Amino acid sequence: MVDFSPEIELLVEEFDRAVGGHLGLTRRVLRCALLGVSPGDDVLSLKAHTLCRFGIWFRENKRHFADRNFQAVDRIESVHQTMHDAIRCLCMDVLANKPVQNECLDTFEQAQSELIERLADFKTELLATSVREDPLTGLPLRYSLDDDFTQALKTCDRTNMLLYVVMIDVDHFKTVNDNYGHSAGDVALRHLADTLKTIARSNEHLYRYGGEEFLLLMQADSPESMKKPAQRLLEAVRNMQIPIPNADPITLTVTLGLACVRRGEGLEAVVERADKALYAGKAAGRDRYVFADDISNSAPANSESA
Ligand code: GH3
Ligand code: MG
Ligand code: MG
Repeated sequence: MVDFSPEIELLVEEFDRAVGGHLGLTRRVLRCALLGVSPGDDVLSLKAHTLCRFGIWFRENKRHFADRNFQAVDRIESVHQTMHDAIRCLCMDVLANKPVQNECLDTFEQAQSELIERLADFKTELLATSVREDPLTGLPLRYSLDDDFTQALKTCDRTNMLLYVVMIDVDHFKTVNDNYGHSAGDVALRHLADTLKTIARSNEHLYRYGGEEFLLLMQADSPESMKKPAQRLLEAVRNMQIPIPNADPITLTVTLGLACVRRGEGLEAVVERADKALYAGKAAGRDRYVFADDISNSAPANSESA
């Protein structure tokens, strides 16, 4: 059973209630068609699509969906309006004792089917992206890594670049929780994620990989040119001042393990090598980066101290 954040659960609950309310509209239209009674001024209004419960809710919550980059938001709004326009046209004809226009009926049926289909897709997408996103830091979780990795490899092949998997692990994070409490630890992780986001370029994917571990996919034209960004990352973390109530700001350091993807190598294998490099960096004193290629064959860690 997957746990969703309370925000998502509330959104889905409201979503279902709003869609349910919309179905009530169909009942009123049916009564109008069969009994010749008015479905109500709100349904006959030119602005019916902005008066119905679903329309109001959707407009108020549009920003949630736009923030998540959903493609179908505008289409849902326009199909919803088309459906209301067709309903008005049908009901007006019935109430005026005129024959119902086939065209309106077809438009109503098509718009209603499309709306139901799109809303179902929309909900699935909302839930799927929520599982893929870490509620604490807003970063993607490792579930989306597979696809991004394949895509980044293709790009690197085309552009003749090397792809690096960089494992980032907070040093002695347990003592942050022990000394300041778990919620201060959460604040620190959120702060760290924000710092890492500002360091990562737009083509470099960043994930919350585990508890206090992050993974970054980086591109470089040579192993030498990876050193500068790795150093910059260490420094940015060292310079963070994380404010917490009634105490001096918390500071953190991280250790990095870097592995360059070899030809034909899968994600799991390269992550394992980056992890080994990371642990070599921990053993060598932390707050540093280590290249996996420098520690192969169980040689002593040739780590780059900061
Ligand atoms: P090392 O330098 O060897 O990595 O030491 P460490 O203390 O960071 O390593 P360890 O794996 O022993 O501890 C990681 C800690 O991170 C333990 C766990 O409670 C904490 N942690 C993991 N996820 C979260 C989280 O979401 N919030 C908070 N506050 N703590 C977390
Ligand atoms: Mg760890
Ligand atoms: Mg750690």
